[in-house]
Amino acid sequence: KIQTSQDYYQSLKGRKLKVYLFGELVEEPSEHPMIRPSVNAVAETYDLALREPELASVISPFTGERINRFLHISTSANDLVLQNKMQRKLGQNTGTCFQRCVGMDAFNALFSTTFEMDKSYKTPYYERFVAFLTEMHRRNFVIGGAMTDVKGDRSKAPHEQADPDLFVHITRRTSEGVYITGAKAHQTGCLNSHWLLVMPTMRLGEKDKDYAIVGAVPVDAPGITYIYGRQSCDTRSMEGGNMDAGNANFGGQEAMVIFEDVFIANPLIFMDGEYEFASMLVERFTGYHRRSYVCKSGVGDVLIGAAANIVEMNGAEKASHIKDKLVEMTHLNETIYGTGIAASYQGYPTESGAYLPDDVLANVCKHHVTRFPYEISRLAQDLAGGLMVTLPSEQDYNNPETHELLKKYLKGKPNVPTEDRFRMFRLIENMTLGRNAVGYLTESMHGAGSPQAQRIQIARLMQLEYKKRLAKVLAGIEVVDTDAVVEEAGSYFGRVFELP
Ligand code: SF4
Ligand code: FE
Repeated sequence: KIQTSQDYYQSLKGRKLKVYLFGELVEEPSEHPMIRPSVNAVAETYDLALREPELASVISPFTGERINRFLHISTSANDLVLQNKMQRKLGQNTGTCFQRCVGMDAFNALFSTTFEMDKSYKTPYYERFVAFLTEMHRRNFVIGGAMTDVKGDRSKAPHEQADPDLFVHITRRTSEGVYITGAKAHQTGCLNSHWLLVMPTMRLGEKDKDYAIVGAVPVDAPGITYIYGRQSCDTRSMEGGNMDAGNANFGGQEAMVIFEDVFIANPLIFMDGEYEFASMLVERFTGYHRRSYVCKSGVGDVLIGAAANIVEMNGAEKASHIKDKLVEMTHLNETIYGTGIAASYQGYPTESGAYLPDDVLANVCKHHVTRFPYEISRLAQDLAGGLMVTLPSEQDYNNPETHELLKKYLKGKPNVPTEDRFRMFRLIENMTLGRNAVGYLTESMHGAGSPQAQRIQIARLMQLEYKKRLAKVLAGIEVVDTDAVVEEAGSYFGRVFELP
């Protein structure tokens, strides 16, 4: 059973993974200097659970043992809230994406979806899934989610694609299980997981039956190829120093995962052909995942701190516009956190006992995340000044020929060591332009669905009929309570006005 970060590092070694990076197969991925920072970020989730067990671990209802909170099924609003608090803390501790939320949100969504599928079809999925989860709890493993298909022609359904493999699907069956083929793009933390949950990426129709497959596969299953995703400035991790990387210890990870006839055994299949339930699974997953993005408020805390440090090192901290910019950054950052945590507090139970977060607020949270980190980054760059992008290299800083010159001329306030100022610039560069801008900016835009995906959900859930009625009543216009109004009152506002 994995307990410490050391156990975790050990567990990743010696696996038969087929990983390509820079045109070559990688011998030991977890030790590759470009991959290692992403492993460290996941390792921190284990260490946090030991340092702060109340925050980052729970007693498993299935094994009775203490396990990581990332493996827990939320059976109360408080469980959802604690996930968010853990995510903010990990964002603060790593300044990057710690990769475990996809799996957590996926199996929370699967827990209730398999329960409801079985009720409709007398299928055995829920029981199988609980058995799988119990085993994961026993080992305290990392579970990754594999959801986002490469999608090909966006105007076509999976079965209509010119190439059937553009969405993961079943290619053949035996009495023991099924074989799948296809590819999942930008899979967060896939190599740093022990198991992957393969799931459909969107609503499916009857003709997409072979695409309605959910199952668990070990990360090193035969037939899986990983092609590692590059990140901006990633090779700085391979230059040997630790200043230019900006955040030398921690980074995120995405890779393309290609399945070529990968076997899933029957006990590990949690949906097979029940295409009507694909949308329930995807929607529940995105509900969880869109409020998981409070992780970015923890990362934002680091960037606000970096900006406050650099203005101090520059001697500019007393200017009123500078203080005001730090206030603005905080306002934006807490707006992300506020909506995410509210989505969790306003969570509600499913028939399985698992709690779902409020979907309106979860979508609003993620929609903030598609914008505010950009503005927070703009302000951080404003406060830092141009040196964060014109700074000479670490090698020049350390070269005896130029060291004294740079030390002298890169000095800010006399009492601040030049190297500290150098490091702070590099951290801001890392978070707003470098490796961790991948997670803090573009992934904030597109992860868990691009902005338009949230707007579609918000449009569906915004209860306009209910609001139109409010206005008519006050304006003195006669109202007729249509079914639409009555029905709508039960959803979002039903939760808003539910009394404890
Ligand atoms: Fe978790 Fe945030 Fe990374 Fe998604 S982006 S896996 S929510 S840390
Ligand atoms: Fe993500």
